[in-house]
Amino acid sequence: MLDDGKIPKKPKKPLVFYYSVILLVLVLLNSFVFPKMIERSVQNVEYSEFVTMLDNKQITEATLDGDKVYFTTGTGENRVIYKTVAMEDGNDLVDRLNAANVDKFGKAEIKQTSPIVSFLLSWILPFVILFGLSQLLMKSLQKKMGGMGPGPMTFGKSNAKIYVEAQTGKTFADVAGEEEAKEALAEIVDFLHNPKKYAEIGAKLPKGALLVGPPGTGKTLLAKAVAGEAKVPFFSISGSEFVEMFVGMGAARVRDLFKQAQEKAPCIVFIDEIDAIGKKRDSGGLGGNDEREQTLNQLLTEMDGFDGSSGVVILAATNRPETLDKALLRPGRFDRRIPVELPDLKGREQILKVHLKAIRASDNININTIARATSGASGAEIANIVNEAALRAVRQGRRVVQQDDLEESVETVIAGYQRKDSSISTKEKLIVSYHEIGHALVAAMQKNSAPVHKITIIPRTSGALGYTMQVEEGERLLMTKQEAFEKIVTFTGGRAAEEMIFGSFTTGASNDIEQATKIARAMVTRYGMSDEFDMMALETVNNPYLGGDTSLTCSADTAAKVDAEVLKIIREAHTLARKILEENKDKLHELAKYLYEKETITGEEFMYILLKKKELPVFTEETESKE
Ligand code: ADP
Ligand code: MG
Ligand code: ZN
Repeated sequence: MLDDGKIPKKPKKPLVFYYSVILLVLVLLNSFVFPKMIERSVQNVEYSEFVTMLDNKQITEATLDGDKVYFTTGTGENRVIYKTVAMEDGNDLVDRLNAANVDKFGKAEIKQTSPIVSFLLSWILPFVILFGLSQLLMKSLQKKMGGMGPGPMTFGKSNAKIYVEAQTGKTFADVAGEEEAKEALAEIVDFLHNPKKYAEIGAKLPKGALLVGPPGTGKTLLAKAVAGEAKVPFFSISGSEFVEMFVGMGAARVRDLFKQAQEKAPCIVFIDEIDAIGKKRDSGGLGGNDEREQTLNQLLTEMDGFDGSSGVVILAATNRPETLDKALLRPGRFDRRIPVELPDLKGREQILKVHLKAIRASDNININTIARATSGASGAEIANIVNEAALRAVRQGRRVVQQDDLEESVETVIAGYQRKDSSISTKEKLIVSYHEIGHALVAAMQKNSAPVHKITIIPRTSGALGYTMQVEEGERLLMTKQEAFEKIVTFTGGRAAEEMIFGSFTTGASNDIEQATKIARAMVTRYGMSDEFDMMALETVNNPYLGGDTSLTCSADTAAKVDAEVLKIIREAHTLARKILEENKDKLHELAKYLYEKETITGEEFMYILLKKKELPVFTEETESKE
């Protein structure tokens, strides 16, 4: 008969009932029947009797338990267990037992004398465990059936790959710099600590905050730090994990995630790389991605569905905010945007400090120099630089990291590893020397260029044959037209030196050309720094955080003019570089020879040779300390 909808519930009560009955019976047996059996089975005897039996060699086994002696006579069928109270010292008794050849530690069998414990262990305990297990099973079964509805959703639940950390162990102290971001997040921490305070006033905290910034700036780290500071659980899932599963799974996962989070509130839900699901839905393409759209819709529904005061805060991170669906950014969803920018000089110093703390570093490391040499590097890159430095120290068999480890690893991370095995012809080496000195000399002879920090002609695995490292003195946020132009002049300096000395070009300047062109183009199309176009945006940046690709927003006609203008700027720069080198030809030769021999020279050596006058060959102490 299938008319009763309550059938599935039926076994629940009776099962508990049976267990109780069994338990009761066992308890009764235990307290009334077994003690009698035990009493019957163990015979109490006088100690003198025990001694007599011992002398007659009747005793087969004995066990001492304090002053009690349990012992047996006979074996198998005839085995009898006795108990007595010892009247003499334990040691004497042991001697006596030894003398009588009694196997006195045959505990296993003798233990039968107190069967209650063994009975409990072997009979009651399994029942208790079974009972507990079945209760648990039943509970989870019920939850699944009642809470989620049948079918594919339970499937989603069992597969959900949601990472929960009760405590992330990270705090704001682990995130260096990023003060603005931390300040904005501190309010969320406070809210998680004390949601009532906000609820009383009626203030609604944003349900979600979006961490926006280039890769490696510490967005994930910040989200973890918020959870760590607030001491709440941290649910994290990556946007791409939502979509790589089967159709329909993404939405189910979102549902699971929010359900679990609400059970654990207050807590933080962190969706990393949210752009993987949150892309604009109208972006069309080839039929769009139905799965992703469903997932996004589910996410929107869930975010609307829960009460802002429940204590669940959703953080998300992305480095392509411009691709996100507008619906996600609406008030009540991710309405708060927290920029997490690349670190400035001070930020880089702090990040270096944080990561240097984790390794064994020498005391006299100049953090400022390293920070200045890593302009434009993200927190993750700086962490990598510190790690590379530690690896280098180990490779060289040292026990602490030194300044030159860090300087070398800056180059490693920026320009690739030194190629130790490469054999480079002397002619090539000479060309590279002149090329690099060309850059350095041109830079040094201009007013606004950053000072030269290091020049090397040791080849890198990245393909670079030489490398001139310039380090800005302070932080540069704005660049004047003159400075931009001087940068281009410096880039063309390498090629100009090659032309001048060897009368031919090599392929070695390709990267310089690319860089120079990039700056010149930006001057024309974005910074309004050309005579021809003035302040007219000819290009827009598509993606400010990921490499800054641009697309032209002008007519083909204008584009041709832009090209002409760019070329004009580069030609001018090239001519100027050539002129500077002609004027300092003997310095160029001298420096190039020096570099050729030493392969790596410091900025100080470079400046010393450059500034030293023929008439004044003595290098005074004063100038040295200035450098
Ligand atoms: P994102 O999520 O923005 O791509 P992560 O948070 O994953 O970057 O950062 C990667 C690693 O880089 C971190 O684990 C940390 O070691 C380092 N890092 C990045 N930013 C910082 C910072 N501001 N302070 C300290 N370490 C940082
Ligand atoms: Mg991340
Ligand atoms: Zn070059």
